[in-house]
Amino acid sequence: MKISITETDQSRISEVDFNHLQFGRIFSDHMLEMVYKDGQWHEPKIIPYGPIQFTPSMQALHYGQAIFEGMKAYHVDDETLHLFRPKDHHQRLNNSARRLCMPEIDEQIFIEGLEELISLDHQWVPKQHGHALYVRPFMFAAEEYLAAKVSKEYRFYVITSPVAAYYSEGFNPVKLTTSEKFVRAVEGGTGEAKAAGNYAASFLPAQNAQKKGFTQVIWLDAKEKRFIEEVGTMNIFFQIDEKLVTPKLSGSVLPGITRRSVIEIAKNWGTVVEERRVGIDEIIEAHKSGRLKEVFGSGTAAVISPVGVIQHGDETIRLDEEKIGPFAKKMFATITGIQYGKIDDPFGWTH
Ligand code: PMP
Repeated sequence: MKISITETDQSRISEVDFNHLQFGRIFSDHMLEMVYKDGQWHEPKIIPYGPIQFTPSMQALHYGQAIFEGMKAYHVDDETLHLFRPKDHHQRLNNSARRLCMPEIDEQIFIEGLEELISLDHQWVPKQHGHALYVRPFMFAAEEYLAAKVSKEYRFYVITSPVAAYYSEGFNPVKLTTSEKFVRAVEGGTGEAKAAGNYAASFLPAQNAQKKGFTQVIWLDAKEKRFIEEVGTMNIFFQIDEKLVTPKLSGSVLPGITRRSVIEIAKNWGTVVEERRVGIDEIIEAHKSGRLKEVFGSGTAAVISPVGVIQHGDETIRLDEEKIGPFAKKMFATITGIQYGKIDDPFGWTH
C-alpha cells in the first residue's frame, strides 16, 4: 500500500526549545493516519499534526477499545536514525489488538509508515545524546454506535514527540510501595495488552502511593497479593546473589521490549537469568540476609530505573538510595549504547 504524504506549509520546529523538552508535550509536524472500514485498512496517509474529527457516539469513548505502543527514534549521525526493535513493538501492538477484538496491522505498513513519518520529521529527532523522538502508535474504535459491541470501524495513528534524556540530572532511584487494596491487572484480564484502560485503572493506586511519598506502586498478583508483577509502567529485575531474577510473564504482566532486551543481554554476559514467580516475602528475606544486591525497573522511557526503596506493610527495604548499582549501570550503558549506535548491535535490534 502506498503512503500518501501531505506536508505542512507551516513547520512549528522553530518554536521548539530543544534544551527544555517536557515529556509528551510537544508534537512533531506530521502524523500518520489510517482508517479501517468495510472490513479493511485503507490507504495510510501522512498529514500535518492537528485535531481530528469524530462524533460523541464514537465507540472508543464509551467502551474503551483503545490500544497503543511506545518506542523511540535515536539520532546516530546526520545520515542515520535508529528505531529500537520496531518489529517487536509491531508484534505487541497486534497481540493487544487481538485481545481487544481489533484489526491487526500489516508489518510492512507499520514499518514503512514509521520510516516515512520519521524521515519526513527527521529534524525533530533531538541530536543531544540521551534525547530522543518518542514514537506513539495507537488505535481506537471509531464506529458511531452506542452499543457495547465490537466496533466495525477503527483509526490508527502515529504521532511523535521530541523528549529529553530521562536522567538529565543523574540517576534518580524510585521509591515503591505495594498497594493493600488495588491491583493493576488480573490473570485472564487485559494486563498483557497495552490497553488504554489498564492505565486508567492504575491512576488511583498510583495517586495514593504518591500521596504517601512514593514514586510508584509495585504491583502484586491479584489472586494472592504475594507475587511481584511489575512497577508503575516498568518491568522489574532483582539481582540476588549473582543471579538476575524477574517475574515471569504470568498473563497479567506487560511483556516489555526493554525487559526482553535486559534478559537477552544478561544471558549474553553469562549471567544466570530466572523468569519465575517472585514473592514479595522472598525479596524481603533476600534483603535481610544480604543476598539482594540490586533492584531496577526496565522500560522504554527510562531504559533502566534503579529502585531505592520498597515498602510492603511494616517492612521497608532500603537499597542504596543515592545511586545506581554496577549491574544496572552496565545494563543501561549497553542498551543505550546500542540504541545510539555507540557500540555494536550484535542482536540486530536497531532498525
Ligand atoms: N509495564 C507497563 C505496564 C508499561 O506500560 C510499560 C511501558 N510500555 C512497560 C512495562 C515496559 O515496556 P517497554 O520496555 O516495552 O517499554
